[in-house]
Amino acid sequence: FADRDGVIWFDGELVPWRDARVHVLTHTLHYGMGVFEGVRAYETADGGTSIFRLQEHTRRLFRSAKIMNMPMPYDAEQLNEAQRLVVRENGLKEAYLRPMAFYGSEGMGLRADKLQTHVIIAAWEWPSYMTPEARELGIKVNTSSYTRHHVNIAMCKAKANGNYINSMLALQEAIRNGCEEALLLDPEGYVAEGSGENFFLVSDGVIYTPELTSCLDGITRKSVIQLAEECGYKVVEKRITRDEVYIADEAFFTGTAAEVLPIRMLDGRTIGAGRRGPITKRLQQMYFDAVQGKSQAHMGWLSDCYED
Ligand code: PMP
Repeated sequence: FADRDGVIWFDGELVPWRDARVHVLTHTLHYGMGVFEGVRAYETADGGTSIFRLQEHTRRLFRSAKIMNMPMPYDAEQLNEAQRLVVRENGLKEAYLRPMAFYGSEGMGLRADKLQTHVIIAAWEWPSYMTPEARELGIKVNTSSYTRHHVNIAMCKAKANGNYINSMLALQEAIRNGCEEALLLDPEGYVAEGSGENFFLVSDGVIYTPELTSCLDGITRKSVIQLAEECGYKVVEKRITRDEVYIADEAFFTGTAAEVLPIRMLDGRTIGAGRRGPITKRLQQMYFDAVQGKSQAHMGWLSDCYED
């Protein structure tokens, strides 16, 4: 991934992709304390390219940094502009963006006190996290044998680098089991989220999603809740058990990468009709309309990258 053309924003400068390097003693590489975002820019109906909910993502990045007590050397406005710039400078029509704040190689050890926060923003084309078939037919999921973070072990509101060890263990296990994604339970055994997605189910026309206790405050989650409520669905945030998922009419994941992704099977049990359900389909369509600038009511969610 390092050997390609393009530029990466690195501490305020646009650096050629291949030269955007750090030292092997980079602190975050050793201990995992860093924060990041996953953001997407979509081609819009008018031919432009817009970042979806840019301000929300940047706000979460700053909140993650605050939780981790990482000083941020830039303000939100600078990082918003830098994200638009990176899409533009790489000439991208659609993009996945990866802003990350990390500690450098100014010191080693857990006690290091001279650490400086560095910030990078990379952007590349990453059109679909899942195949078009998966978007329509849904994916197979297994309940993970790995428990999601306890609120007092990892900070669940922070999108922190180290938190993703748990996600990777769960995802690797799911793939080994012939599934496409994992469903992680919280330390009390209730449904938390996917390895990189929030979770929803539909039962008797009502949409349910876990409370934000131990899952990430997903921006797609928030958007989908708003879209669902705007068209009259009742959305309930509550504790969900895995057997409630088995007997749900529909289930789906939401996330910047996964978008709105139907779940057709959990632990070998077919969910509903075993394919994308009607409410999932409707929400998925509304979500795509919003990100692609086809929904007048949600144009405020978009930040154009090429306009002045
Ligand atoms: N949960 C986890 C653990 C994630 O990594 C992500 C992806 N950022 C999400 C949920 C979904 O969040 P968002 O909709 O903001 O991408």
